[in-house]
Amino acid sequence: MQVIPVKDNSQDLILSTELPPFLIADLLKCPSLPTLPSVAVDILKIARTDDPAVSDYAKAIERDPALAMRIIALANSAFFSRTNVKVSACQEATARLGLDATLAAVLSFSLLPNKGVDSYFQRIWMRSIIASLAARHLAIHICPDTAGPVFTAALLQDIGILALRATYPEEVNNLLSTSPLTHRQLSEAEQELFGCDHSQVGAWLAAKWGVPTSLAQRICDSHSEYDIAAPDMLCIQLSGPVADAWLSSQPAQSLVTVIREFEAFEGAHTISLRHLLENIQQQLPALADMLQMSAPPLQDNESLLAEAQQLLFHQTLLLNARLDSQQAELASLNKRQDDLETRSRTDTLTGLANRAWLEEQLKKRFTLCKEQSRTMTVVFIDLDHFKKLNDKYGHQTGDNVLEKFGKTLQALIREGDLAGRWGGEEFLIILPDEKAAAARVFADRIVQHLEKTPMAYDDQSPIHVSVSIGIACLSDGGFSGAKELIDAADKCMYFIKRTGRGGIAVYGERNTPEPPINDFPTNGQPVTD
Ligand code: GH3
Ligand code: MG
Ligand code: MG
Repeated sequence: MQVIPVKDNSQDLILSTELPPFLIADLLKCPSLPTLPSVAVDILKIARTDDPAVSDYAKAIERDPALAMRIIALANSAFFSRTNVKVSACQEATARLGLDATLAAVLSFSLLPNKGVDSYFQRIWMRSIIASLAARHLAIHICPDTAGPVFTAALLQDIGILALRATYPEEVNNLLSTSPLTHRQLSEAEQELFGCDHSQVGAWLAAKWGVPTSLAQRICDSHSEYDIAAPDMLCIQLSGPVADAWLSSQPAQSLVTVIREFEAFEGAHTISLRHLLENIQQQLPALADMLQMSAPPLQDNESLLAEAQQLLFHQTLLLNARLDSQQAELASLNKRQDDLETRSRTDTLTGLANRAWLEEQLKKRFTLCKEQSRTMTVVFIDLDHFKKLNDKYGHQTGDNVLEKFGKTLQALIREGDLAGRWGGEEFLIILPDEKAAAARVFADRIVQHLEKTPMAYDDQSPIHVSVSIGIACLSDGGFSGAKELIDAADKCMYFIKRTGRGGIAVYGERNTPEPPINDFPTNGQPVTD
């Protein structure tokens, strides 16, 4: 075994998190860190050249007869051999395997100890082998040009676990002796313990050995978020969950996760999960055997898939039902909120806007008009002799009159106008973008309507009411706030009260006996009808 790599590529690696310095120091000190024999180092050296040749690989491998035998056997296995023609020379074997698979095989043979492999170690390699088969199958369909490097990266994606275990045997064994962890849980636990997970450590180690930086980078990114723009990475990232499902004690349940992961990626839809599983099933025994692993678990793909689909269907139904009820709950909450809001701004007796809402809208409108050089007019209405009406016909009839008058106003305004109850028997209407003349036309319509239409009945006899109306337009005075505008309309209304009731006064018009507010323009006086 040779510890020092020919070239340290770790500087070129882009790690998603910096490895903590203590971790690097401990890894470098660790005497049992997985290392590469000189043949593997030579192969890596050749792999890094611009134009690596099969013959160079073969020559390097031939220096280790045991390794050469295993490579030849691998090339003759069902996995790589499509014909019955057996190869017997290392060069032919390497040509058949291809450079990437040869590299993967050399690295695997080198990293797998011949003896003393415990069940955890076995399981990690098994996952890697299944993942590499899955990744290669996916790559052949999604990005065939990268199938080789994808296979190698998937195979080596978990070497960081071995490095961490060699460096921190106690901590890692404690981690493993608790409840069995999923791969994601293991990664999270490593993050907590070491400040990074095994994908980063594995990438660092591979780069230290001198593997091509692209390979180390793929190992590093094997746990990253799915990157649809990088299909080669996607194949590696999807391969882990496939392997986990294969090795899971509840494979159907785990397969549901895989199906979901696949659904997240558009291109993966075109890949038949059944073919993927069949492919793994076919290749696994030969590859495991060549890599001297114990017999891998085999799955009954048909029933596994059927069970997974059923589970998925069931879960989707449950999920839909939950979504439906959540949506209904949300809709009813929204409606309740809307109802509450409407109620909070509505006058209960008349159904018109209440005082608070009127004031808020007035303020908003006033600011908007100032900002955008627009105008508005307010119409202030007070029912005449309402106290007497109450006294004569009773409070209930008074209420009926107010209610009916509210409905009348609502019917007479246009869309965009806002009518509200200012208080008692006082009403206010905001007419956005209207001048005083238009407001007067509107006020006239109210007066005429009240002349024709009774607001209540006492037995059979109709009860008519008259109103005093004050109008103020924003354009007709130097109003500094909404309150001044209302005051102007209010004063005009009182002017009508004082001069006999039942009429309309407009702020700023001529022939009124007194100005309604202090800053009244010199040429403008309120007038009666
Ligand atoms: P003026 O012509 O000067 O406006 O006389 P008025 O009687 O209409 O005005 P005043 O402000 O003197 O009295 C208002 C009356 O309106 C007194 C109050 O009882 C009555 N009123 C206020 N709110 C309600 C209500 O919600 N229902 C009923 N029925 N009456 C109300
Ligand atoms: Mg009144
Ligand atoms: Mg009043």
